[in-house]
Amino acid sequence: MNITELSVADLSALLKKRELTATEVVKACLERIRATENLNNFITVCEDAAIAAATEADNALNSGASTSVLCGVPIAVKDNIATAGIRTTCASRTLENYVPSSDAAVVKKLKAAGAIIIGKTNMDEFAMGSTNENSAFGAAKNAKDTTRVTGGSSGGSANCVAARQAFCAIGSDTGGSARQPAAYCGVVGLKPTFGAIDCDGLIGFAPSLDCVGLIARDCDDVATLFASLYDGTAGERNKYCGLTEIDLRGMTVGVADEFMNVEYLDEQALSAYNRALTALRDAGAKTVRVGLPSFAAGIAAYHVISSAEAANSYKQIKRTMRDGAQTGAEFKRRIITGEYVTDGARYEELYVKAARVRAVIRSEYLRALQTCDVLICPTAPNVAPKIGEKLPPDVSHYNDMYAAPVSLAGLPAVSVPFGTAHGMPVGMQIIGRHNAEYTILAVGKQLALRDK
Ligand code: GLN
Repeated sequence: MNITELSVADLSALLKKRELTATEVVKACLERIRATENLNNFITVCEDAAIAAATEADNALNSGASTSVLCGVPIAVKDNIATAGIRTTCASRTLENYVPSSDAAVVKKLKAAGAIIIGKTNMDEFAMGSTNENSAFGAAKNAKDTTRVTGGSSGGSANCVAARQAFCAIGSDTGGSARQPAAYCGVVGLKPTFGAIDCDGLIGFAPSLDCVGLIARDCDDVATLFASLYDGTAGERNKYCGLTEIDLRGMTVGVADEFMNVEYLDEQALSAYNRALTALRDAGAKTVRVGLPSFAAGIAAYHVISSAEAANSYKQIKRTMRDGAQTGAEFKRRIITGEYVTDGARYEELYVKAARVRAVIRSEYLRALQTCDVLICPTAPNVAPKIGEKLPPDVSHYNDMYAAPVSLAGLPAVSVPFGTAHGMPVGMQIIGRHNAEYTILAVGKQLALRDK
């Protein structure tokens, strides 16, 4: 049996039956990480701590003390999420030796469930970027083609799942950082409803947008992870609670013309999108046209708002920078932008205007979701670019244009692999109403089943 190929669900069943031990599983992951270390997915591999945690998980499993599905399952955690006693660098030289004294809320929950933290993943510095090239530890290399980027900012998290170095991973998603790398790497990435998962201990980038992101190989595994990390019972969550079965014949899927009129939408990605719509219709779903007239303004509003919040969040970082430690150019650019758009008269002119655009976008998405159950669009207009590829300056952020407006609206969305373009995976983004995580995961599962 090739252990690292198992899904979380199958692995968990074998661990429970004691046909596998957590120690064997951790060793298999560590071996896989070593064999594929050229991918540069990890900033820190937690070898000793993971082996110790595996012994504990095996004890709990032997005595029947643990009922959690995640007991004994190795999980990778993005390096902007605090881990007690393990350095948490945000891929920045300024935090190279920062060792938090306590765990983030999600890490506490994972540990309580018996999950094993296998390592801390590579990312764009302070989660600013969409290629993972802004890391002080070097770019991660896409497991499907090592000359290409993984996407970002949770590049290491998505790529380590694709490369079978971990069974699932925690990332963060402020404007697409879990969904977009999931799309580029061919795995499933969820941004939950804003506020659904406790962000305590996630080193904040833009607090009105920041979410913990969840990445796994399929929608069922993401649902399992979500169920373990979310402990409320709000709204539609109950409807499919823990279940990812759905009959598409009862579903209405919304499509906006604005999704197609994206200047840089790759032709092959567009045809994958059209095939996805056909597959949903063939399975009995109804598609309806919706209007999102302000969609295209989303990316600019996102950058104004997130940079303004970042300039505020990172005042502390600026003060605590260790002598001589430098941040990368992208971090500086964001802070300068954030200070610029909130300075004096420009506050009204730029920041307040962006906040108004945000409110309009939110209401447009909410209105659209009154006429359909989910919206679907590509996660990104392209496939993973080549490492070092220079995108034209006016479009340097266009790869977030489908993801960022959803963040402004605080809605849940999942990226599911569907089809390929230029030999690389393409992701479809399924967007749901607030608190409808299980609905979008259920639709995503059906879509993935029809990916031929
Ligand atoms: N790629 C986007 C950015 O550069 C989103 C980042 C994120 O979600 N953390 O800001």
